[in-house]
Amino acid sequence: MSFDSLKLLAPLLRSVEAHGHAIPTTIQETAIPLVMQGKDLIAASETGSGKTAAFVLPILQRFAHSSLGGNQEGSLILVPTRELADQVGNAIRDYSQSMIPVPRHLTIFGGVDIDPQIEAAKARPDVIVATPGRLLDIVERQAIDLSHVTLLVLDETDRLLALGFADQIDAILKQLPALRQNLLFSATFPPEVVEISNAILNDPEKIQLETESTPGENIQQRAIEVDRGERTALLRHLLKTEGWSRVLVFVATKRRAANITAKLSKHGIRAAVLHGDLKQERRTRALENFKAGNTQVLMATDSAARGIDIANLPCVVNYDPPRSAAVYVNRIGRTGRAGQSGIAVSFISIEDYQQFQLIEKRHEIKIERERIEGFIPTQADPNALLPSATPVKGKRKSKKDKSSEVHARKSRNRASEKQELDSPQTPFPETIEEDAKEQVVMIQKERLIEKSIPAEPSKLPEQAVEPVVPTARKEPNPSLEIQPEKSVSDPWTQALKKILEKD
Ligand code: AMP
Repeated sequence: MSFDSLKLLAPLLRSVEAHGHAIPTTIQETAIPLVMQGKDLIAASETGSGKTAAFVLPILQRFAHSSLGGNQEGSLILVPTRELADQVGNAIRDYSQSMIPVPRHLTIFGGVDIDPQIEAAKARPDVIVATPGRLLDIVERQAIDLSHVTLLVLDETDRLLALGFADQIDAILKQLPALRQNLLFSATFPPEVVEISNAILNDPEKIQLETESTPGENIQQRAIEVDRGERTALLRHLLKTEGWSRVLVFVATKRRAANITAKLSKHGIRAAVLHGDLKQERRTRALENFKAGNTQVLMATDSAARGIDIANLPCVVNYDPPRSAAVYVNRIGRTGRAGQSGIAVSFISIEDYQQFQLIEKRHEIKIERERIEGFIPTQADPNALLPSATPVKGKRKSKKDKSSEVHARKSRNRASEKQELDSPQTPFPETIEEDAKEQVVMIQKERLIEKSIPAEPSKLPEQAVEPVVPTARKEPNPSLEIQPEKSVSDPWTQALKKILEKD
């Protein structure tokens, strides 16, 4: 199927072509016609499936039609994170660039000065992309009128709810006209998502594609056994030998991200950090430099990298193990997006072995263990190494080489142990509850930062159009067939939710 056959307007076809999108992805070819018919929609789609264009293109088409009739039909897209807000805002800007008139869009998220957003909101933008907390702040100051919003998108609904935005979403819904079209996108379907779907969707069409709960087949998954103290040296070695142009490296803590970045930089590797404590401008700059190829390695924590989209990212490295099977898929899903191939490498030290096995079990996969010459673990789990370990990569070594390698490794281990002591790191949580608590602290810190950092306002082009009467809305359909899914109800997520609820 071509984009032509989706009956998109010429300016939209031009921008799709300018993006190099030759054919629509599955979610696009299924969702776009339904959205253009004015239907409500509940769609399951894996990360990187092209879901943003699946709702942005029909929203822009709808704007073009309503503006022709002299109306202003607004759209509101709610997203869980500022990174995603930025991405969706950029997609709107890019896909709408050859439209006349250009729809006015506003991206609203925390972590930046609220006043410019308030000013921009007063002008009744045609398309609003927002994180719920900041939008509600603006609503509460009576600075935004949402009465013209006749299309609502909940993007990454499972994450919106896992981050505790249910009440804010409820409050925002009260500001919207009852007659509107609703689109709900979610990677997974825990009971909360089913509940909100039942509450807001009106006889929705259902699109059930592959979900994020299984790793994409286009991603080559590798697991390399290595001692903890050797991981940075191994990373440097792989950067040299594997020819990866850009690598997103996941670590457990921001302090570790900073330490490793400093070590890589010392060796002339262009590396940067991305974590939740950075000011918004620095996060944006780090991401832009990485996307532009100015930085080769981006050291990220899970909270900061949640939902980010980096086109053509060849490789992701799990320096520290992911905390759950869902986080594993989420991390590796940053590569191999939109059908491209990608590599996901996990470092496995003896301390992480069991955790990694659980992840494999959960996803019903078995990843062959590799060992790299010069980085063979001294503390390997004998059970783990016997059957699955592949032969060491590289040529055979002489006795002399071996003894100097052991010597070099010992001194590297001593140096890295010292560094870990010099710069104390948060120990790995021992229980699921501790793990969840750590995550809560991170989320709360992010929210605090969102409230306190001033930054540049989003800029609006100057145009205005008038509202049209929305199509009639039927009674809500109480029973959705999509069943609650277990995948986000793993013990870790449950613990996290409990703690968030308590707070
Ligand atoms: P999303 O799932 O919306 O985050 O999109 C993931 C990536 O896929 C983005 O970088 C898009 O630019 C890209 N993309 C979206 N639609 C297509 C398409 N039809 N063909 C190729 N790439 C696409």
